[in-house]
Amino acid sequence: LARGLAQAVAGCSPLNELAVAACEHSHQQYCWPMVSGRAAMTFVLQAMHKLRPDRDTVIIPGYTCYSVPAAVERAGLKVQLCDISPDTLGVDVNQLRRFDLKRVLSVVSANLYGLPNDLTAIEEFARNGGIYMLDDAAQALGALVDDRPVGGFGDAGIYSFDKGKKITSIQGGVIVVRAGPL
Ligand SMILES: *Cc1c(COP(=O)(O)O)cnc(C)c1O
Repeated sequence: LARGLAQAVAGCSPLNELAVAACEHSHQQYCWPMVSGRAAMTFVLQAMHKLRPDRDTVIIPGYTCYSVPAAVERAGLKVQLCDISPDTLGVDVNQLRRFDLKRVLSVVSANLYGLPNDLTAIEEFARNGGIYMLDDAAQALGALVDDRPVGGFGDAGIYSFDKGKKITSIQGGVIVVRAGPL
């Protein structure tokens, strides 16, 4: 925080440095620093919707941060809740399989309290179902699943540097995306 404040006073953005570090950590190729995690999420969903304008629904876990449905709403998309698994507190993949995916644009993970979701299964479900996956790692910077970093699953990931997250810049977030088209 002290270093961030010193850099801010000096007129450079410590968030760029954090974003690059988060990008390297996630093993993704591109990163964009954003003003918040929810702004990052809105931006990613809008980009996905631009590529698939025929789809307007986003599946999110029935239990997650309030900012998640707010970001979906802000992107002009519809929220569809999915029951959660008591083991991971993220979307239950067996419940996911029951959805009609015709209008579904993307599924969002939760990774609450640093507890990784069943990310390999969610990623596979998204790929097989022809929908995008957004890996919400706002609370899980540093967590790994099978040696893969949380936030690095699916088509895009987000981290948050808000108050109360693993690393804070007081407010801020980052988008990480793999190379190639979403
Ligand atoms: C905090 C949080 C967000 C949003 O991040 P902000 O930087 O606060 O906008 C999104 N998802 C989860 C799970 C969060 O905990």
